[in-house]
Amino acid sequence: MCFICGKLCSRSRKQEWSMVESSIDLSSKSIFAKVNRAANERKAEAMLLRLSEVPNGNLVAIEARYHRKKSCIASYLNLKSIEATTKNVSETQTRYDEVLNELMTEVRSNIVEQKQVYLLSTLLSRFVERLAKSNGPNAQQYRSQLLKAKLISKYPELSFIPQTPYSDLVCSAEITVGDALRKAEQLLNVIQQSEEAQIGTSSSSAFAKQAMTA
Ligand SMILES: [Zn+2]
Repeated sequence: MCFICGKLCSRSRKQEWSMVESSIDLSSKSIFAKVNRAANERKAEAMLLRLSEVPNGNLVAIEARYHRKKSCIASYLNLKSIEATTKNVSETQTRYDEVLNELMTEVRSNIVEQKQVYLLSTLLSRFVERLAKSNGPNAQQYRSQLLKAKLISKYPELSFIPQTPYSDLVCSAEITVGDALRKAEQLLNVIQQSEEAQIGTSSSSAFAKQAMTA
């Protein structure tokens, strides 16, 4: 397996790949140092993790191999390719932030002023819907924990009440937990009732189920 792209280094095609041959050298010229720097610039967490697990940074000892073709290591270390990747990542982040702002503009006063309680999963599906409508970046990988982390850092006036195995409750930080739970119970009743009323019509009951789980 290639330690850069993760694809096979086939025995029958030995001309296509190389073993890492430079020694444990951590100077800026070693493959380890170069890949480590590129991974840092790319904010490639999976790669950084993999590199951190290589004992002493010794790629030779673990018999690391890589493809010689352009699309593998050369492209990984290429400055232009790194720039394109980071630009892409930051554009995606910006779009996420914009859509989250839109969504929060819509629901913030419901939560903060009118003290309504939302399920985190409901906010997440609305967020994903909005992204899809705006032809934004694919948000399928966007998970509720990520949304929660974002909301916590940007909206300190919100509070989150975990209720395993259901989705967290999102409410104003000013209402008591008891209040929030009471409101949540009403909310869950509504969802359950609509689910019972809709048995057989899979789309809304699937939506309700989705709303219930994190
Ligand atoms: Zn490769």
